[in-house]
Amino acid sequence: MPFKTNVSKYVKPSSLEDACEILKSDEKACAIAGGTAIFLFSVRGFFSQIDTFVDLEALDLHGIRKLPNSYEIGATTKLQDVLESELIRYDCLKSALLSIPREVRNMGTVGGEVYTAAPNFDLPVALMALNAMLKVTNGKNERTIKMDEFYSDVFSPNIERGFVIKAVQLPINELKTVYKRVSNTAHGFSLASLCVSLALEELVIKDITVAIGGSIDTPPTRLFDVEQELRGSQIDSSLLEKGAKKVKKSDFLKVSSDYTSSESYKRHLFAYLFKEALKEVVTKR
Ligand SMILES: Cc1cc2nc3c(=O)[nH]c(=O)nc-3n(C[C@H](O)[C@H](O)[C@H](O)COP(=O)(O)OP(=O)(O)OC[C@H]3O[C@@H](n4cnc5c(N)ncnc54)[C@H](O)[C@@H]3O)c2cc1C
Repeated sequence: MPFKTNVSKYVKPSSLEDACEILKSDEKACAIAGGTAIFLFSVRGFFSQIDTFVDLEALDLHGIRKLPNSYEIGATTKLQDVLESELIRYDCLKSALLSIPREVRNMGTVGGEVYTAAPNFDLPVALMALNAMLKVTNGKNERTIKMDEFYSDVFSPNIERGFVIKAVQLPINELKTVYKRVSNTAHGFSLASLCVSLALEELVIKDITVAIGGSIDTPPTRLFDVEQELRGSQIDSSLLEKGAKKVKKSDFLKVSSDYTSSESYKRHLFAYLFKEALKEVVTKR
């Protein structure tokens, strides 16, 4: 299937400053990394206004490194390279990446997966649960944005024209993490996905982060009310039930009935995934 765009110009700047300048000054220009999401959504007409692709490949934004308090993943790092990284071994990251077909992981980049702001992409959910920070730049200035503040709406990243994602930073810690998802077909996009990261003391929850994605009405989001309710609680079977009920009714879980399933079934799925994730995460060493 061909790309459905009206693109007639393709530029490959060698400096971030030049790339950002083009993206800022030309509203018909758009960044391209692996091109897989552009391919996917051009079919829906998302890129019909674009006439110039600005290739980010030559900008030296790839690679994974360890900083004093975080791991830094360059924006154009391929998803497969993150999966194979010896450095970053968070279980949830691995599970989320394994949900994405291998062919796509070989082409798709971390920056493209995050920027797209698709509700049913897997990696952003895991990154949110890991409290990731995004380093963004306009080629001159840099700032960091918390992953859970990066999306203003579905397909709407919270970033000004002329800025690109430079890197994703993950805090280094000993959190236990689990990523779970359900899809309608073996290789389908997620219908419901949920990631839990947990700091436990004995069986008491010192800290917990719960993020969700899938066939939801918002971009991937954290369930802050669920997290708040569970912090400080002892994990036992009654807590699983209590947590699952809270997930089902969370103010942050916005779902509606569509061709994939009914609203109530989606709520049920998230509650189920929460219980499964929590049961699994407490058994991790
Ligand atoms: C057949 C298929 C199946 C897929 N299945 C899954 C799946 O199961 N789970 C899942 O999570 N994902 C899935 N994906 C999505 C895939 O993982 C993403 O398309 C990919 O990660 C996007 O990266 P990219 O480099 O190709 O982005 P591109 O397509 O190059 O870019 C996507 C968007 O991000 C912008 N962009 C790219 N890099 C940057 C940057 N550094 N800064 C600012 N803007 C940037 C572009 O302008 C564009 O708007 C699938 C894709 C395909 C084609």
